[in-house]
Amino acid sequence: MLTITGQSISSELTIGTIRFYRHIKNIIGDAVASDPDEELSRYRSAYQTTMDQLKHLYDKTLKQLSQAEAEIFEMHRMLLSDSRFHQAIEDSIMQENKTAEYAVYSVGQKLWERFMAMEDPYLQARAADIQDVMNRLLFALSGKEESAFDHIAEPFILMAEDLSPSETVQMSSSKLLGFITHQGSPYSHTAILAKIMGIPALMSIEIDENWDGHLAIIDGEKQCIYIDPDDTLVRKYQTKLRSARKKHEKLLTLKELPAVTRDGREVKLYANVNTPSDIAIAMEQGAEGIGLFRSEFLYLNVHEYPDEEVQYDIYRSILEQMPGRQVVIRTLDLGTDKKSPYLALEPEENPALGYRAIRICLSQTELFKVQLRALLRAAAHGSLHIMFPMIISLWEIQTIKELIETCKKELTEKGIPYGDPILGIMIETPAAALLADTLAAEVDFLSIGTNDLAQYTLALDRNNARIRSFYDPRHPALIRLIEMTAQAAHRHNIPVCICGEAGADPTLTKTFLDMGIDALSVAPNALLPLKKAVREI
Ligand code: PEP
Ligand code: MG
Repeated sequence: MLTITGQSISSELTIGTIRFYRHIKNIIGDAVASDPDEELSRYRSAYQTTMDQLKHLYDKTLKQLSQAEAEIFEMHRMLLSDSRFHQAIEDSIMQENKTAEYAVYSVGQKLWERFMAMEDPYLQARAADIQDVMNRLLFALSGKEESAFDHIAEPFILMAEDLSPSETVQMSSSKLLGFITHQGSPYSHTAILAKIMGIPALMSIEIDENWDGHLAIIDGEKQCIYIDPDDTLVRKYQTKLRSARKKHEKLLTLKELPAVTRDGREVKLYANVNTPSDIAIAMEQGAEGIGLFRSEFLYLNVHEYPDEEVQYDIYRSILEQMPGRQVVIRTLDLGTDKKSPYLALEPEENPALGYRAIRICLSQTELFKVQLRALLRAAAHGSLHIMFPMIISLWEIQTIKELIETCKKELTEKGIPYGDPILGIMIETPAAALLADTLAAEVDFLSIGTNDLAQYTLALDRNNARIRSFYDPRHPALIRLIEMTAQAAHRHNIPVCICGEAGADPTLTKTFLDMGIDALSVAPNALLPLKKAVREI
């Protein structure tokens, strides 16, 4: 038995078999082949596997979703069977003596670059499809095709060198028990996704491919993983799992009770969610509403930016799931670690300080207006609050409001009904906290994003595990900015919420309540423990 320690995102625990998720960069290997005929036959077999896999995905998507979503797999089959693409790979293997992996990668990469350089945005967007097809072929060559996890019957612990938020979203299957990675930090979006899924994750682990298929136990509280645990340890953890479940069942008795302190101070408890299916889970945990719906996760893995109708349908369905309750939908917060194929964001030297969130939306206003119009239309179906991320200046709010007025006019001209949403901003930069008084005068609510506020106040990259010990959500500078924000909100008679991870830390709850924070928005699994903490104050 091996015991390895890492950095945990929560105190959750799990027992299961490890499955290794292999990244493309790890499977390309040597460029020169020793036996071209063997490489050719490996390529042809991977080609057939990929074609079959795409057909399977087409049929499955057609049945479970729609024709439009299934079409993408048909288009990928067409790309893959394009005779020039196919021939270029075979030539690279037979004439240039390259391995199948290298040939697929180099031919795919050249084609990708050609599409990326095209001016027509439709053709440029096809670059992401080329990459998808190329990745599938590479996974098939590795013998571990990308959708291999779909076929594993038993739930598993996923092991990877690193996981991006878009990969994590794709993996949010009911079979995922937890994950362990070498890279990544507990404040990254990947970690936040795991929290919302309610599963444990350990990062900064020296992973070993040989653990694939081995039994393991993740103990989030002790921040460690046991590989090949003996029977006694497995029994001990099975008992721990049962008692954790019992403890949770006991917490469920608080579900209908208000989050009120012993001296009668009430705080609203909302849920942070990323997908419409998270809403039901949040409601089961007694959420009073949704305090943060990260809209960018809806569209992280799609190749084309969804049009107004598609967005309207989804926002309306979210509101219809929450009749009479507040739903805060945050506008697209893309950039840094959240990269969507349709935006084709260029690499940046300082991505966290770069082209992200509202900066993208205010630079690409047509894209932003599609989301705004869809949200305005959805606002007619419930209590919609729209929230804008990464605000630093007053002019940004004024420009957003002007764009909203333009969108309303456009909808009126077309005779399309819309509602009147409540507008708020995230306070997640020191600039916004310092200007909270000025900004609060312009909006209906403030919501403090402590994850980014800590990153920018403390000058610490939230994705960098190496500096994790410096990242302190209780840092006095951060606490002071939160207090200033709460005071500014109340001077303007508007509510203030905390929607960053610090909101779920029960050791900070009293501090926040003393400051007058009106609401806390946390991952669904954190709702009931937090309510218990509030009721004990
Ligand atoms: C935050 O920054 O605290 C926040 C809630 O937003 P995100 O974690 O999505 O950046
Ligand atoms: Mg943020």
